[in-house]
This record gives sequence, structure tokens and C-alpha cells, in this order.
Amino acid sequence: MSVEKEKILVQKYGGTSVGTTERIKIVAKRIKEYYEKNFHVIVVVSAMGKSTDALVALSKEISENPSDREMDMLLATGEQVSIALLAMALHEIEVPAVSFTGSQINLLTDGRFSKARIEKIDTNKLLTALEKKMVCIVAGFQGIDLEQNITTLGRGGSDTSAVALAAALEAKECEIYTDVDGVYTADPNKIPAAKKLSKISYDEMLELASLGAGVLHSRAVEFAKKYNVILHVRSSFNFNEGTLVVPEDTDMEKLLVTAVTLKKDEARVTVSDIPDRPGIAADLFAALGDVSINVDMIVQSTGKDNLNTISFTVLKNDVLKAEKVVKELLTSWGAGGASVDKNIAIISAVGVGMKSHVGIAARMFKVLAENGINIEMISTSEIKISCVIRDDKSEEALKLIYSIFGLENA
Ligand code: ASP
Ligand code: MG
Repeated sequence: MSVEKEKILVQKYGGTSVGTTERIKIVAKRIKEYYEKNFHVIVVVSAMGKSTDALVALSKEISENPSDREMDMLLATGEQVSIALLAMALHEIEVPAVSFTGSQINLLTDGRFSKARIEKIDTNKLLTALEKKMVCIVAGFQGIDLEQNITTLGRGGSDTSAVALAAALEAKECEIYTDVDGVYTADPNKIPAAKKLSKISYDEMLELASLGAGVLHSRAVEFAKKYNVILHVRSSFNFNEGTLVVPEDTDMEKLLVTAVTLKKDEARVTVSDIPDRPGIAADLFAALGDVSINVDMIVQSTGKDNLNTISFTVLKNDVLKAEKVVKELLTSWGAGGASVDKNIAIISAVGVGMKSHVGIAARMFKVLAENGINIEMISTSEIKISCVIRDDKSEEALKLIYSIFGLENA
């Protein structure tokens, strides 16, 4: 007997979905329904609830700076708990199921601990189990490198495990179960009228993921786009249809803007009066990269009197580290000053419709201006406009921008 590809379904359940044993039993029942409809179900799970955070906290009780290898060894245990419990819950309701760690299915990654990238997946074990009508439960977030070290894919990485498995098995769809109903036109906690999108393109989803609409891990979306895996983001708390993440189609371009987001976890570093010569920006951002600080927006003003100002944003958590790096450089250059501003927010509008409609940025800037909201930095891509504004104006800005693009009628 061989496994019919059309019938392979990959389902990923996040931490909240398997947060308690009660929740695990509910998830098991849900899996049973698909199993009984003759799907070959591959389930990828995250660690229960906030258990990965708890493991991080444990390590901190021992060491401020634990070895990366041991950290991955520790964090990977969270998923080993949830796969075993879910397999047991399935056995209790008479569904044959078997759990696998990343190493047991040879999910090969490079050796970069805590941010490993998947290189190869051996599907043999899974296909053999599927042939025997077993549900396969795979630990998300983890893999193994060539030297048999346990690696992890970065926080939130179970999404990526699921999409990679779906790609390797050529599954039709990968369902991502979470605690929200799908992807919304804005955060419903801030805009109660926000609507669930029935579909969104990979590129829009990538922008939204990096703008902090935390429903999907960006790497997972990149993978899905590369291998054409359709993602279905939906809730494990009900049976509503969620949001499909799919290739772009012409319908999508009819909308001006698909979603509006607000990001409040970044801070700005301004480096002023630095020499206006080749190599300064390269040195600055190389030094930040060396300590693994991710820089988001960058603005450099036009030089004057052979001096320049460069501003950039980083996660608030990284800002002190960034300031330290900058100050060391300033000493080596013998020039300049640095300051940090934590009271900023980044407001963005995203939509593939921007490719075919002009004047979207102008409309956004105008509504901010009319309401006395100053724009401090701007960055754009083909399908996104982002502005840095004062944090205390950000909720107001979100509502204004939401309404001018007619998202309430989306
Ligand atoms: N358990 C891991 C985390 O909390 C991976 C995941 O949930 O996707 O980051
Ligand atoms: Mg998660």
C-alpha cells in the first residue's frame, strides 16, 4: 500500500492549543475526526503553554550565559513532553498514534544552535507509519545536526517545522492551529471592528509577521512561499474557517490596503555628528550584527560639514546593548554622540494593492498631518509603508489609518 499524497494533512498545534491536559484531550478528538475521514494526519506540536519560557527561566537560575548547545538540549525537552502526552491521549480514544522527536525522523539542520536552519528531512519513517494507518506526532522546533547535536529553530519555530514537513511530504495543506481565528485587518483588541481575512498572500503575511502580527513565524511563511504550501491559520477552540495564506492573485490587488499594524516593541537609536565618509555605516551595522542585534528601520540624513546623522530602530530589549556598541565605535572614531528614544511606535499599512494604486503613502501621511501626528521616520517596500511616530499617539493613528483605507468594508 502506498500513501496517497492528496490525503496527507499536516496540522500544527501551538502552545496554547496544548496548554493543559484538558486541551490535549480536545486536540486529540479533533485529530480523530480527520483520521476517521481517512486523512493521513501528521501533527506537529509546540511545548505546552509557556513551558519553553519556564525552561529559559530555569537556565537563568544556573547561568547568565549558558552554552548554546546545552540551551538547545534543554529547550527541546518541552516538545518531547507534549508529543508523548498527545500520543497517549489519542491511544485513549482508540486512535493509533506514534510520537517522534526531531532526531528520530532525521530532521537535519545546520549546526547553528538556537537559530538552526532545516537542511533535509527524511520522510521514510513517517511514510511507513502513515501506511500502517498511524497518526504521526512530531516535535516541532527541533532538529539534529550532522554531529548528532540537538538543535532548535528559534523561538516560535514549530510553525517552520510544520511547513517544512508539509513541503517534504508534498501535503496539500498545512493547518496552523492557534488561539485566534485567523489573520485580521488589524488587531481586534485595538480595533474592535477589525475583520478576519479569508485569504492573504505570502508576501503580505511576511510583512505582517515581521511587523509583529505574531500569528506566524516568518521563516515558516518563507518556506511556504518557496514550496507553494497553502497555510490555513485557524483556531483550535472552534471549527470556524480561518485565513488561507496563498500565492498572490489578481483579486487581491483590488484592495488598497489589506491590513494595518502597530508595533510598540522597538526603540530608536540616533547616532549624530559622525564622519561623512565611506565605511562608517558598514562599521556601525557590522558591529551590531556581530552581537546579533537585528536592525529594522534605518534613516541617514544628508551630510553637512562632513558630518552625518544615522537613526535606526531595534527591539527595545536590545537597545541598551546597541547603545553600548555604538558608544564603543564613537570612541574609536573620536567623534559623535548617541541617544536612545524608547517612546516610539511603528505604524504600518500592508497590501499587494499598493503595487497597482498610486498615492497610498500620501493618503496615510495626510491623515496623520491633519491630526497633528508627526512622522519621524518612514520606510517603504513594494507592498508596505511604515512610519515611526510618538507612542502616545499610536492608538489614535491606528484608528485613523484603519478608517481612511475603508477596511471596515473589506
Ligand atoms: N516551544 C517553542 C517556543 O516557545 C517553539 C514554538 O512554540 O513554536 O518558542
Ligand atoms: Mg508558537
